Amino acid sequence: MKKNEIEIASKNIHEMMEKGKLKKRAVTEGTELEIMTREHPRWDEFCDRLEGPEGCNFRQDENGKWIWDCDNDQSLAIAILEKMGAIDIPDSLEYFEEHGGYCDCEILMNVDREEE
Ligand SMILES: [Zn+2]
Repeated sequence: MKKNEIEIASKNIHEMMEKGKLKKRAVTEGTELEIMTREHPRWDEFCDRLEGPEGCNFRQDENGKWIWDCDNDQSLAIAILEKMGAIDIPDSLEYFEEHGGYCDCEILMNVDREEE
């Protein structure tokens, strides 16, 4: 995803959260919002997507050094959680921060690996 697309996606999410649309839509669909934690059944799917081209896009450069994209915020994680649906995004971000995930790559490096 290009940087400006990410900015648009996270801007839309913030606008939707302000207007309370995320919660209202979930109630309409009869779905409970869930917090994305390591115990969530879709945690591995979330991490795979955050690691891949949709997220940080972890890859090796020509010298074999690992490189990835991160804007020092949680915009990639927010965009993925929004696409996954029925996730309580503000509470999930709070959980990530409690476990050292202050930006997208830290979610993978700190939150996902904390207990390994
Ligand atoms: Zn980062």
